[in-house]
Amino acid sequence: MEIFFDALSRGIFTIARCRSCSLIIWPPNPVCRRCLSSDIEWVEMNPSMDEIKGKAIAVADSYIRDARFAFIELENGIRLLGRILDDAGVGSQVVMVGCGIDSSSKKPYYIFKSLSDCTSNV
Ligand SMILES: [Zn+2]
Repeated sequence: MEIFFDALSRGIFTIARCRSCSLIIWPPNPVCRRCLSSDIEWVEMNPSMDEIKGKAIAVADSYIRDARFAFIELENGIRLLGRILDDAGVGSQVVMVGCGIDSSSKKPYYIFKSLSDCTSNV
């Protein structure tokens, strides 16, 4: 867990993956929930930030701190609560543009925007 938060504080999103059964472990946990192995590797997801893509599956209507909150499902199945900077709605393809740890609340945050300029066929 220290690895996860340490990386996140530097703007790097890491996921835990079990070396025994390859399960992606989310939320991050030092023990695999499927095979109970503690042989976990931490994988950096964003050597370049635009590689973390997902889909908004629920979006809050209210604006808080100039951003909207959305439940995002990443391509690897991870679901997390993120902030959306633009008008992305439910079903929109989004890309992570930032992450870190809030300096006051000490909680992780993830920031997304629409992938509208992407011409992929998703
Ligand atoms: Zn496992």
